[in-house]
Amino acid sequence: MATPTYDAIVIGAGHNGLCLAAYLQRSGLRTLIVERRHEEGGGANTEEPVLAGYRHNMHAQYMEFFDVMPMIQDFGLEDLGLRTVMPEAQAGITFADGRPPVVLHRPDLLEATYTSIARYSKADAELYVELKQRAMKLEELLAVGLYNPPGAVPNAGSPEGVAMMLEGVFGDLGVAGHFVAKSPKMVIDELFETPELRALLYRTCVEWGFPIDSTGTGGAFFTFIMWTMANWKLAIGGTHTLAKAMTQACYREGVDLLENSQVERIIVEDGRAVGVVARGTEYRAERAVASNADLRQTLLDLVGADHLSPLWVKRAKAYRYGPSHVLGTPMFCLYEAPAYRSAKWDPDIDRCFYTMVGFDGPDDTARYIRDAYSGTLPKPAAGTWVNSLWDRSQAPPDRHAATGWYFLPCASELTAAEWEDVRRTYNERFLATWREFAPNMTADNVIAHKLYTPDQMERKNLMREGDFSNGEFAPDQMGPNRPFPEASNYRTEVEGLYLCGPSAYPGGGVHAACGYNAFKAIAEDLGLPSPIPADRSY
Ligand SMILES: Cc1cc2nc3c(=O)[nH]c(=O)nc-3n(C[C@H](O)[C@H](O)[C@H](O)COP(=O)(O)OP(=O)(O)OC[C@H]3O[C@@H](n4cnc5c(N)ncnc54)[C@H](O)[C@@H]3O)c2cc1C
Repeated sequence: MATPTYDAIVIGAGHNGLCLAAYLQRSGLRTLIVERRHEEGGGANTEEPVLAGYRHNMHAQYMEFFDVMPMIQDFGLEDLGLRTVMPEAQAGITFADGRPPVVLHRPDLLEATYTSIARYSKADAELYVELKQRAMKLEELLAVGLYNPPGAVPNAGSPEGVAMMLEGVFGDLGVAGHFVAKSPKMVIDELFETPELRALLYRTCVEWGFPIDSTGTGGAFFTFIMWTMANWKLAIGGTHTLAKAMTQACYREGVDLLENSQVERIIVEDGRAVGVVARGTEYRAERAVASNADLRQTLLDLVGADHLSPLWVKRAKAYRYGPSHVLGTPMFCLYEAPAYRSAKWDPDIDRCFYTMVGFDGPDDTARYIRDAYSGTLPKPAAGTWVNSLWDRSQAPPDRHAATGWYFLPCASELTAAEWEDVRRTYNERFLATWREFAPNMTADNVIAHKLYTPDQMERKNLMREGDFSNGEFAPDQMGPNRPFPEASNYRTEVEGLYLCGPSAYPGGGVHAACGYNAFKAIAEDLGLPSPIPADRSY
C-alpha cells in the first residue's frame, strides 16, 4: 500500500487540534488528524460513567471563552449543534452554619451580585461590581491578547506594561502598578474585607490556574480572572457537544480523521518533520506536523533527543507540570438537588451554576489548596455543579446529575494503591461534609457516585500528572515564556514541527487559542491564504 500522504498532520484531536485542522484544511492544506482515543475532544468530554442517563463532564465544565472564540463564528458551530445556556446565578459559596451565602451573578445581573455581597459589606459590593464592569470592557483587548501569539497587545507581556494598564483602568479604585508583583491572595486580601467573599475569590482564581501564593501574577486578577469569573456558559448536552460540532466542522472542510491511533514517533529527516508513525503505520506530511500533545511527549518521546539540540533537551526536561491544574472529578447521581442551609437568606444558592462546599472562610480555602499543592490529600471540600438544574438533558426526569472538582495532589504523588483507596473513600468523606451544608444530601438521596482521579486523567488523555494545562502557570512558564522563550511562537527547532496544545501560549482552557494561533504561525511560514476575516483584530 502506498504511504498515505497529506500536506499537514495534526497529532491529537483535542479541541485545539480540531481547531487547527479546520483552519489548515480551509486554507488549502490536505490535513489528517491522528487521535489515540476512540473519540475527539480530549478534555472537552462528557460521559455517563456512573449510571446510564446521568451525564457528567469529566473535565471542562464552564465555558468562558465562547463569546470570543473565533472558530465558533468562522465555522458556524451553532449550526452544527453547539447550544449553550448561561445560568443567572453563577458562582456561590455556602456555609454549614447557615449564614448568608455569597452569590455572584452573570455580568448582566450585577445588581443581584451587589445585593448578595452587600449583606456583608457595601464597600466590597461596590468595589466588586465596579471591577467587574471595567474588566468586561476589556473583552476585545483580552481577545486580541489570547487569539494572537504572545506580544500582540503592546506591552502586555512586560510587568511594566501591565502595571501601566492597571493604573490606567483601575487606578482610581486604589489599584497601583505594584499589584503586578503581588500574588492573587495578596491582591484579594488588600481589596476586600469580607472573609466569605475572599474565600470564594481564592478558589475561583486557583481554578484558573493562578496559584493564590504565586507572586508576580497579581495583574491577572484584574484582567483575566475578573473577566472570566461568573461569565460562564454551560454547553447543553455536555461539553462534548463542542467537540462534536468542531469534529463536524472538520469533516465538512474535508479533514481526514484517524481514531484509535496513538502517534508513536514523529519522523524527522534532515532536521525536518515529515510525518508520523501511528500503530506501526507511516503517514507523511509534506508541509507541516503539529502536536496537540504536551511538550515533553512531543519533544522527548515523539521527536527524541537525538534530533534536538542539547539546549532544547534541557528546556524540555526543566519544564514543570502541576501542581496548579490538578483536579479530581467526583460524580453523583441524585434524587434531589442539594438544598442548602444558607438558602434561607438567598434561594439563588440552590440554583447556582457553581457552588463551593466545605469551606468556612479564606484560611480554610488557602489551607485546602496548599495541602493539595504540597502533595497532601486535603480534607474533602469541593466546587460543585448540578448541571441538570439548567439542562434537563443531563439527568433522567425528576433526577439530578452533580459533578464537582476536588484539588488533589499530582498523579505521581500517590501510588496506584493509594489512588485506588482515594477513589474508594474520598467521596463518602465529602458527602459527610456536604450534608452539613445541605441536610438533604443524605445517603438516601445519593443513588450512586464515582470519583475520577488525576492518575486516571493522565492515562485517559495523556495529561501528564493530570495537569490540564500541560504545564504549570508560573511567570517563567507564562506569556512569552510559554513553554520556554525559544519555543514561544508555536514553532520548534525541528523545521515544520509546531506546538498547538496548552504547553504553548496561552495555556490550558477551552478557548482553542493554541490551535488558532498555531494556524497563524503555520500560515505565515507557508504563505497560506488566510481564511480569517480581515476586519477582526484577532
Ligand atoms: C478536571 C478538569 C477540569 C477542567 N475544567 C475546565 C473548565 O471548566 N473550563 C475550561 O475552559 N477548561 C477546563 N479544563 C481544561 C481543558 O479541559 C484543557 O485545557 C483542554 O481540554 C486542553 O485542550 P487541548 O485540545 O489542547 O488538549 P487535550 O484536551 O488534552 O487533548 C489532547 C488530545 O491529544 C490526544 N493525544 C495525546 N497524545 C497523543 C498521541 N501521542 N497520539 C495521538 N493522540 C494523542 C489525546 O488523546 C487528546 O485527545 C479542565 C481540565 C480538567 C482536567
